Amino acid sequence: MSFETHTEGGSWTGGGTEVPNCSSAEIDAIRAALRFLVDSGQPCVAGVAGLGALATCLAGKNERNINLDCRSSDCNGAFGITNHRGGSDVTFCDPALPPNGIQADTDVTLFHEFIHTCDGMELDAWAMENHCYAGHGTFDPGVETVRGFESETDDAGNNLRAGRWVVWEPDTGRVFVKVETGGSWNSSPTISRGVELNVNNAAYILQPGGGGGWI
Ligand SMILES: [Zn+2]
Repeated sequence: MSFETHTEGGSWTGGGTEVPNCSSAEIDAIRAALRFLVDSGQPCVAGVAGLGALATCLAGKNERNINLDCRSSDCNGAFGITNHRGGSDVTFCDPALPPNGIQADTDVTLFHEFIHTCDGMELDAWAMENHCYAGHGTFDPGVETVRGFESETDDAGNNLRAGRWVVWEPDTGRVFVKVETGGSWNSSPTISRGVELNVNNAAYILQPGGGGGWI
């Protein structure tokens, strides 16, 4: 765990030196983003009623249990990548790293990706960063990103779609904490709206179009 390395020097018999993939300036920025998560991001989540489990998950994520890396062929314009929901491999891409990005870009990217390490979907990661990092590097999701919310989330009835931690009204662009009540071994819980999150509702309204494909 910790910062990913590669081997420089040595020969086919071994030897060489383990060198971090991230530069020292990049490691500094990522460590500052980890501190910002502890000082601001995690307390923000902990302060939202109904998100205690997410706050606890975030409190447990750190340099010792997340693989942190810089750049990858998968970046392709993204700020960051997590290997999968609930995964432990987080890669920072150029827009989230100095000198291309400022510290706030690194901060908000780390927060977004760590929501994914806590099983969050894109809807969860975007809504949480918009809510908790307002004025600190976050921006509205684009039309295609919002279309992605629809394909990734589950229909919870009554024009409500459910992410892992939040629920979303595609018609109004409103996002709320996901509340689950009831349910048992043979029945699903009822999903309803909890506390409303502060996102730009206009940006979260699902726009028609997209060619009719799943994407
Ligand atoms: Zn994401």
